[in-house]
Amino acid sequence: MVGIPRFGFVAGQWLSLKANKPDGGEITRAYSIASPPGDDNRFALCLNRVQDGFMSNFLCDMKEDTEIRCQGPFGDFILRPPLRDTLFIATGTGIAPFRSMLHWLLADPSRHEGRQLWLLFGSRYEKDIYYHDEFLRLAQAHSNFHYHPTLSRGGPEWTGLRGYVQEHVLEIVQGRTDLHAYICGLDKMIKANRDLLKGLGWDRKAIRYEKYD
Ligand SMILES: Cc1cc2nc3c(=O)[nH]c(=O)nc-3n(C[C@H](O)[C@H](O)[C@H](O)COP(=O)(O)OP(=O)(O)OC[C@H]3O[C@@H](n4cnc5c(N)ncnc54)[C@H](O)[C@@H]3O)c2cc1C
Repeated sequence: MVGIPRFGFVAGQWLSLKANKPDGGEITRAYSIASPPGDDNRFALCLNRVQDGFMSNFLCDMKEDTEIRCQGPFGDFILRPPLRDTLFIATGTGIAPFRSMLHWLLADPSRHEGRQLWLLFGSRYEKDIYYHDEFLRLAQAHSNFHYHPTLSRGGPEWTGLRGYVQEHVLEIVQGRTDLHAYICGLDKMIKANRDLLKGLGWDRKAIRYEKYD
């Protein structure tokens, strides 16, 4: 029996999507897979519109049944065994690989082994917190998963954390240097968090990151 080839990937990997521009040129951009590996040959992406950007707007405007070329999966921004207590830091669509990793990890106790997992997720406004209800539910279901959304421009009704992600790292790591950290998003945020952790005495190799810009 001939089956459809299985699309396999590891949580944290990305795809290279290609589109034709109106001027005839081809454009290629990377997008992290936002869903955990599964058996159904489907995957999710987490996209936002970048002002004046071609590909992000092209993808957000795509209609159902439209085809697009892609290559991959690529990338080594994946969980490094053995798993330790881990801090995941993301802003914006940088949440995509962590949604994949956290769903994969928490789906099976033998994968997370009860390790403490913190997700520190920065957005501007409450409406921008991607997958908020989903992460709240995941945290309710798993006592070792701690979800910390923080808003840089939260309104008066927001009762959670405020400010940038790097302003909350210290209260989570509490002087520990034995964790792993994974950071994903734009360069400036990644640099701020890497510098902070290295300044706390963390080993460079305990900090992995994926830059989107
Ligand atoms: C490994 C990897 C994984 C990525 N995964 C995702 C993903 O899951 N979801 C996603 O939306 N994007 C992701 N990106 C970013 C994506 O590849 C594009 O750069 C983005 O969609 C902008 O493309 P564009 O053609 O619209 O604009 P461009 O013309 O390429 O970019 C316009 C400007 O926006 C900046 N920029 C790039 N990305 C962003 C962003 N997310 N927010 C704000 N400014 C940005 C660029 O530095 C550039 O200055 C990823 C990038 C990399 C390298």
